[in-house]
Amino acid sequence: IALIGVPLDIGTSNRPGARFGPRGIRAESVLVRPYGMATGAAPFDSFQIADVGDVPLNTFNLAESIEIIEAHYDAIVATGAKTVSMGGDHTITLPILRALHKVHGPMALVHVDAHADINDEMFGERITHGTIFRRAIEEGLIDPNRMTQIGLRATGYSAADFDWSRDQGVRVDTAEDCWNKSLEPLMAEVRERIGDAPLYLSFDIDGLDPSVAPGTGTPEPAGLTASQGLEIIRGVYGKNLIGADLVEVAPQYDASGNTALLAANLLFEMLSSFPG
Ligand code: MN
Ligand code: MN
Repeated sequence: IALIGVPLDIGTSNRPGARFGPRGIRAESVLVRPYGMATGAAPFDSFQIADVGDVPLNTFNLAESIEIIEAHYDAIVATGAKTVSMGGDHTITLPILRALHKVHGPMALVHVDAHADINDEMFGERITHGTIFRRAIEEGLIDPNRMTQIGLRATGYSAADFDWSRDQGVRVDTAEDCWNKSLEPLMAEVRERIGDAPLYLSFDIDGLDPSVAPGTGTPEPAGLTASQGLEIIRGVYGKNLIGADLVEVAPQYDASGNTALLAANLLFEMLSSFPG
C-alpha cells in the first residue's frame, strides 16, 4: 500500500490551506501506534506500507496539476500497489479515480462529506473541489448505483443541491439522518450496495463536526462524530477496497493539532480496512 501526499489547495472555494495537510498529518502521526486495540488490526504486519512522499504539483496551475496527479497514480498503480492518499483539497480525487478506473473499471464509492461535490460548475469552472463527483459519474468512473454519500448538510446554492446525486441512483444519507445514532446499521446496508465491486473510500474531513475537526477550509456545523467516522471506515472492512483518501485537512485553522491527529488516526483505520 502506497501512502501518498497530494498537497493541492488551488481547487478550493473558501479558505485555502489544505496544501499543509500531508505535512500536518505526518507530524501528528507520530502518536499512531502499530496495533488497533478495538479491531485487532495490524496493518503494518499485514501489508508492506510505504510513505512514497508527495506528488510534485504545479502550484500555479490546477489543470496541469490534475494531469500530474493522474500520471503519478498511473505509475504507482502499475506496480500493483493500492493507494491511500492524504489531501490536499477534494479536487485530487478526480485524477486519482481516473487512474484507478483504467485498472479496475467502474468503482463503488463511499463518500463522507458535508458537501455533495456534484455542482456542474463553480464560477464557470468545471473542475474544482465542489464538482468532482459529477465529473466522476459523467465519465463512468463510479457506478452511482453502488455509491453512497454520508454526512451532507448545512446550506446550499439551491434547494435541489443534493437531488442530482439521487437522480443518478446514488444513496444519500444526510447528517440529520445520522444524528444521535450508531452508523453500524447504515453501513450494513451500504455494504449490500457495494457488493463485490472494487471500492474507493473518499473521506472529506469536513464530513465530521467542526468541534472535532475545525482544521478545514469549508466547515459546516452539526456534522458526524469522530466515532461515527470510525464506524464508516470499519464498516467497509471485508469489501474489495482498492483505494482511499482523506482530504481537506488544513491544519493551520486548528492550533491544537487535533484535526491532523484525527486524520492520522482515520488513515490508520483505512489501512486497517483493506482486505488481507
Ligand atoms: Mn468534499
Ligand atoms: Mn466538504
